[in-house]
Amino acid sequence: MREGCIHRSDDFMNAKTYGPIPGSAILKGIAGKKAIVMAANVRIATVAQGIFQAAKDTDSVVFMELARSECDLKGGYTGMTPSDFSKKMQEAAQKVKFGTWALHADHITIKKGDAAEVDGTKQLIDAQVDAGYTSFAIDASHIFNFEGKNVREELSENIRVTTDLARHIKSRMKGKEFGLEVEVGEIGRKDTDGLILTKPAEAVEFIKALNENDVFPDVIAIANGSTHGHTYDANGNVVAQLSIDIPQTKAIAQALRDNHLSVGIAQHGITGTPRELINLHFPKGDIIKGNVGTFWQDVVFEILKVYEPALYKNIQDWTLEKYRPLNPGKKDNQIFDGNCKMAIKEFFKDIYSVDEETNCAIRARAYAESLVFFRAFGAYKTASLIKKSAGRKTP
Ligand SMILES: [Zn+2]
Repeated sequence: MREGCIHRSDDFMNAKTYGPIPGSAILKGIAGKKAIVMAANVRIATVAQGIFQAAKDTDSVVFMELARSECDLKGGYTGMTPSDFSKKMQEAAQKVKFGTWALHADHITIKKGDAAEVDGTKQLIDAQVDAGYTSFAIDASHIFNFEGKNVREELSENIRVTTDLARHIKSRMKGKEFGLEVEVGEIGRKDTDGLILTKPAEAVEFIKALNENDVFPDVIAIANGSTHGHTYDANGNVVAQLSIDIPQTKAIAQALRDNHLSVGIAQHGITGTPRELINLHFPKGDIIKGNVGTFWQDVVFEILKVYEPALYKNIQDWTLEKYRPLNPGKKDNQIFDGNCKMAIKEFFKDIYSVDEETNCAIRARAYAESLVFFRAFGAYKTASLIKKSAGRKTP
């Protein structure tokens, strides 16, 4: 073992396990606090140990998650099935001996809502439940009835599919508690005037309808001006994302409270939003879950550039060769940036068999970046809140 690497922990003598706890215990446990739980999309599992170590050292709660596109029964574009992902996250948590985290299925996306798609989705959910997931995000926001005469009618298919899948999760969890996230308003959807934002009445109507169906989500994802992944200027260069509409987000949270609906907001697409802005201006407590995905992939690739230049070059060449023909007129840097995630599965063995020096640097960088996120999110000292509330009897 090398000296000087800050995240080695080879003590497996402790028999206590550090598996995930219900997402609902975490989200309910921070209710009323000015805090956001970071949900990290760990496309390359090497970052997980650094994130968990930072969570442990700062007493911060955390979610580990992957979306359906990233992780499904065939491995998604990360090459991990739900069972692979669960194992890797549990190993990382065990190494640092941290147990206040949830294993979350991000974006269980339904695009049409027909019987075949819903059945296939239930198979994915079954695999996630079997793998030990403790939290689920149903995303049927793409199904929007433009012919609807009122908000309820516009959302009717989203309500139907979300209810069906939420009931399926509940029955498969066999009485065990779990976290539930739902989504209204497709994130990043644009019309000619720019990004389409969710209206307070839509969020209220959606949650009301689900509650009437005996479905009680912990968090709702809304369209509030963020996009997934990086934000670009007209020349294809990555720029800071300053488009999250904070007043609209606050208005939605207020409308939900005014209607006595007990649900927090999940902020998707945080990568690129300056953390000093999050620290000072995000409505923490209104937003209670913040998804950070692409950022963690960047952390790995930045390290590979220096520590594994030959591998990085192979990844670059493969991505550009494959995606240049599909993106005429775009510059190479934007083509690589937008599609390098597809190389993770292709180079899976190489990425997971790099030198310990490389892994050490990835963990250290993930650790440092997590500290800054947890601080900006107001998450310090939230983990012990959960331990206390988890000991209490649930009503
Ligand atoms: Zn998302």
